Amino acid sequence: MQQLKTKVLIIGAGTGGYVAGIRCGQLGLDTVLVDGGDGLGGTCLNVGCIPSKAIIHAAGKFETVAKAAGGGTLGITAAAPAIDMSQTVAWKDGIVRKLNAGVAALLKKAKVKVIKGWAEFADAKTCVVKTDEGDIRITAEHVILATGSEPVELPFLPFGGDVISSTEALSLSEVPKKLVVVGGGYIGLELGIAYRKLGAEVAVVEMAERILPLYDKALTDPVAKWLEKHGVELHLGARAGGFGDGKLSITTKDGEPLQLDADKVLVTVGRRPRTQGWGLENMGVAMAGPFVKIDQRCATSMKNVWAVGDLTGEPMLAHKGSAQGEVVAEIIAGHDRVFDPVTIAAVCFTEPEIVSAGLGPKEVAGRDDVIQSVFPFAAIGRALAIEAGEDGGFVRVIANKGDHRILGIQAVGQHVSELSNSFAQMLEMGAVLEDVAGTIHVHPTLGEAFHEASLRALGHAIHI
Ligand SMILES: Cc1cc2nc3c(=O)[nH]c(=O)nc-3n(C[C@H](O)[C@H](O)[C@H](O)COP(=O)(O)OP(=O)(O)OC[C@H]3O[C@@H](n4cnc5c(N)ncnc54)[C@H](O)[C@@H]3O)c2cc1C
Repeated sequence: MQQLKTKVLIIGAGTGGYVAGIRCGQLGLDTVLVDGGDGLGGTCLNVGCIPSKAIIHAAGKFETVAKAAGGGTLGITAAAPAIDMSQTVAWKDGIVRKLNAGVAALLKKAKVKVIKGWAEFADAKTCVVKTDEGDIRITAEHVILATGSEPVELPFLPFGGDVISSTEALSLSEVPKKLVVVGGGYIGLELGIAYRKLGAEVAVVEMAERILPLYDKALTDPVAKWLEKHGVELHLGARAGGFGDGKLSITTKDGEPLQLDADKVLVTVGRRPRTQGWGLENMGVAMAGPFVKIDQRCATSMKNVWAVGDLTGEPMLAHKGSAQGEVVAEIIAGHDRVFDPVTIAAVCFTEPEIVSAGLGPKEVAGRDDVIQSVFPFAAIGRALAIEAGEDGGFVRVIANKGDHRILGIQAVGQHVSELSNSFAQMLEMGAVLEDVAGTIHVHPTLGEAFHEASLRALGHAIHI
């Protein structure tokens, strides 16, 4: 068997692992990156963030033309649109391939050795990788685990045939006539909304009493309104059962059995860390529930074994893994670093979009030492000019009453994902309301709602 020794061995080329790899390479560390998946970039790049946003974008284009055809919009009329999903998927796949190649080029530039194959660990610092050219035994001084996560399967709704996960939903050859989404979290709703825009009849079955239960109700109301307006059937407080003969059995909130017609059932009930089948149990690392336990340096309980990304817990978001990957690479190179962000902003690319950063109303409930201020997009000129002012969207700022330190910022509205980094920056820099109020915001932009929400918290909003 071929033997390889390296300073750093990274398992998994998702956003956690490949970023760690590039940073290790930049820092001059001898690095090997192993991935058994279909392309560099992991879940996010191949079957997650990027392809979902491409399909969402295509769905938005389709909806615009459909509106123009259905009586006209903004004085524009058009003929009814048609979609060839195989071409849409091919376009999406082209973007993924371009990014796969980009990651490969960046790793090469950083002099990271990439090995394609599945790794299995015999002990904490030794693994065997099964490659097309035979097995390779790799030993390393430092190991970074970045094996990511996988969709949770329901035992009574196993994936296969017309029961699909988000992965298959991103590569359908045609738009289903009737799509039932089981699980009203962000992945299910992003895709459910996209397919509704593409013309599918969509139903959502969610066990909780409302959609996107991790976000506060005021933020999710505009999304619920969109779903209602667009005829998406919502079964809240309901449980899915088995699927057969084109029908999904559910039990409604009132305990009544109901059958929903479905060409496809998309199961998006969560993701779980990928901890099985690669010898993690032989590495002697402690666990924190289903996740690998790490400290503030992303160190596991085993010396010089590090873990980043979805494997290490919530929030399971691409940018968290990347940030952890950079920190670990720098620690291995001798820098004094910890992973201790003030916030990791989260975005739902639903219709409209939702952003949440820092503390929300739930976290400050009952406190009389905070100010909560909301500014609606309906009072923002740019929002009206781009048809983004009528869906109930707003920006909310939460700050200390005493020193005006900003504690949390949330928004719901079209395109608000683009405000997320400005929110995170303000929180990370420890901004007070006066910092936002004193920053001249460009006109006309959606960001003016953030400015106005901060002014309003200080008692002197201009445009309301
Ligand atoms: C549909 C969907 C949409 C999403 N949208 C967003 C979004 O908009 N924004 C966002 O921040 N996040 C989003 N996510 C979540 C995001 O994809 C993950 O948080 C991110 O990919 C986690 O990165 P990671 O590096 O931890 O692991 P992953 O990206 O899961 O990568 C792990 C890699 O490790 C490899 N691997 C695992 N075990 C082994 C082994 N034993 N040997 C070799 N290789 C191995 C796998 O092949 C995989 O390539 C989305 C996810 C999905 C499914």
